[in-house]
Amino acid sequence: MISVEHLTKCYGDFTAVDDLSFEIDEGHVYGFLGPNGAGKSTTMNIMTGCLSATSGRVLIDGHDIFEEPRPAKKLIGYLPEQPPLYMGESPMEYLQFVGQAKGITGKELSEQIEQVIEQTKIYEVRNQRIATLSKGFRQRVGIAQALLGKPRVIILDEPTVGLDPIQIIEIRELIKELGRSHTVIFSSHILSEVQTICDEIIMIAHGRLMALDEPGKLEKRLLSPSEISLVTDAGAEQAQSLLTPIKEITSVNTELMDGGYLRAEVKTDNGDIYSVSRKIFNAFKDSGKALLEMSLKKASLEELFIELSGNPAESETAEEKEVPEK
Ligand code: ADP
Ligand code: MG
Repeated sequence: MISVEHLTKCYGDFTAVDDLSFEIDEGHVYGFLGPNGAGKSTTMNIMTGCLSATSGRVLIDGHDIFEEPRPAKKLIGYLPEQPPLYMGESPMEYLQFVGQAKGITGKELSEQIEQVIEQTKIYEVRNQRIATLSKGFRQRVGIAQALLGKPRVIILDEPTVGLDPIQIIEIRELIKELGRSHTVIFSSHILSEVQTICDEIIMIAHGRLMALDEPGKLEKRLLSPSEISLVTDAGAEQAQSLLTPIKEITSVNTELMDGGYLRAEVKTDNGDIYSVSRKIFNAFKDSGKALLEMSLKKASLEELFIELSGNPAESETAEEKEVPEK
């Protein structure tokens, strides 16, 4: 449906998007994930024909967004990071204006306006001045205008930024609903948000593609367990002497717990974690000491994301992560 090919964007001598390539298939909700400054808005502005690329190209259903902008743009509805809403107008007036600009007129336009007002649930405020609307409602009006013209793809740039927790949940619900009838690409710098709404994650950092996969598969592929946590009644020295001969083990950290038991955190670089746990099991069995607990530890996608982006959780990100999920 959309093909982004070797896209590069330089602002002066700064490269904001760096040889970025990915494919968008019809019928999915894509989360475009990356920390602030990763190049999400730049990429989306280029994909929607609002900004030129330094090199590379974007094809929308086979149409080059720069060489054939008309047929390409017809297929996309876009909510930019800062939607150009006219504060003095009502949503009705604004949608009339945008619809006409998209070449829709007469009865077709009134019908489509009615439909998008219903889809985005802005009926009660449709005649109120946009200036008087809450940020949540303004964002809905922005999404309503993106839906005019019945595009097959909806692109939303950070649609939940600046909303309160209730509004965030409502907009997430709306995105999920739109996903049933559209291909949706929305950007976010919040991993948990992307994980809960989308069925494909495109992860970028420093303008480069880090990963593109389903959230579950991404987690599996990138986060194979590499750590075993165990509890034993052996002493620290004895545990070390049982574990260190196992050559797949790269480090052992022990800690004495209440009740005199010992917890050991074992790291390995071996891909077959169960073969390592079997060796541990056998070592303890032969020693006469008990292995009371053994579990595999995985890093979270959150930790990976922070590591990949080289951007430790900043206060803003941390705050927004605490938004309760439904
Ligand atoms: P994101 O949307 O992921 O936060 P952006 O695409 O807005 O990232 O920005 C990517 C990088 O490009 C940032 O470092 C930003 O400062 C820089 N940038 C964006 N727009 C401009 C511009 N018009 N001129 C110069 N630098 C820019
Ligand atoms: Mg942005």
